[in-house]
Amino acid sequence: MSETARAAIVTSVAGAVEVRGYDLPHPGPGEFLLQVELCGMCGTDAHVYRGRLDSVRFPALLGHEIVGRLAVLGDGVTTDHAGRPVRAGDRVGVFPALSCGRCYECTVRRRPGSCPGRRPSYGFASPADRPPYLTGGFATHLYASNAGTVFYRTDLPPEVAVLQEPLSVALHAAERAALRIGSTVVVQGVGAIGLMAVVAARAAGAARIVAVGGPPARLELAAALGADEVVDLARVPDPDRRRGAVLDALGDGGRGADAVIGTAGSPEAFLEGVRLTADGGVLAEVGNFTDRGTIPFNPYSDLLRRDITLAGVYGAGPDMQRRYHSALSILQRGGPPFERLVSHRVPLTGVRRALEALGGGYSLDGRDVVKLAVDPSA
Ligand SMILES: [Zn+2]
Ligand SMILES: [Zn+2]
Repeated sequence: MSETARAAIVTSVAGAVEVRGYDLPHPGPGEFLLQVELCGMCGTDAHVYRGRLDSVRFPALLGHEIVGRLAVLGDGVTTDHAGRPVRAGDRVGVFPALSCGRCYECTVRRRPGSCPGRRPSYGFASPADRPPYLTGGFATHLYASNAGTVFYRTDLPPEVAVLQEPLSVALHAAERAALRIGSTVVVQGVGAIGLMAVVAARAAGAARIVAVGGPPARLELAAALGADEVVDLARVPDPDRRRGAVLDALGDGGRGADAVIGTAGSPEAFLEGVRLTADGGVLAEVGNFTDRGTIPFNPYSDLLRRDITLAGVYGAGPDMQRRYHSALSILQRGGPPFERLVSHRVPLTGVRRALEALGGGYSLDGRDVVKLAVDPSA
């Protein structure tokens, strides 16, 4: 076969990224080949790139937020996971993990992430120098070699469909924050997850949403996505004054928020989140995804006396497959300008620069990164 696929391979921890060529595989029963249109890049990829996930071996092909068109369907692949018929050429979003759905972890504990029969997830199924090859999204093609891979057909443009994973993380945060119809919400941080948290809070029925962060362009996007008020960190750098500004913006007599969703990712921001939470409220922390250190915390005055609840939110959570599906439904309903989230589309040759940007200053080509995505046709 003369057609070949290309993939951006990370050769070693924080090392060079080489674009390598591969023969196109022939999908067996239950498998399929996808022509990748866009693959989101997130903090997890930057984390893996730096060798902080033991299970990933190098050389590695990353990329787990995968959207593309079905190219070749193996025998028996006739519908998506919701039972809708599919054929070659249809656009789909691929769920990266595959668990058995029958074991104790999957059914009783409802933690499919701990399933002993779990297959290597796309974007983490290394090493890349051994078959089955093409198992990550930073490539022209994805070989869905796990028979029974979960995917959903969608007519959304790729730059919106690719938000399925970050929105599923935000839905997890909103659920852990126990949002109710009429809740007041503070979202700390307006990166991709913070912006998606605004969308999730709106979908959950929040009455008032205040987003805190920067720079101004991202705050403007937060407002366009549903935040009622925004507070610019740069304009109110002092934490005490900032607390006052946020409480004013909540408009509830200075009580604090029923729920705070923390996506800023520093221990200091976490403590600030505790102090923005109303007595009896919940802080759902999603931002301290890597170890950024410790902070003094008074269990009496910060927690018990105020009767607040602290919830840790790790990624899309153990129940992530359900949230993936919900996220797609919310994106498909439309309304907010979701298409503005992807700020950069980088070619396969730009994968290393993009990974470095996510691990550093969140700036690429002289512009702030909101959401990065790899476009293998670029
Ligand atoms: Zn991700
Ligand atoms: Zn299982």
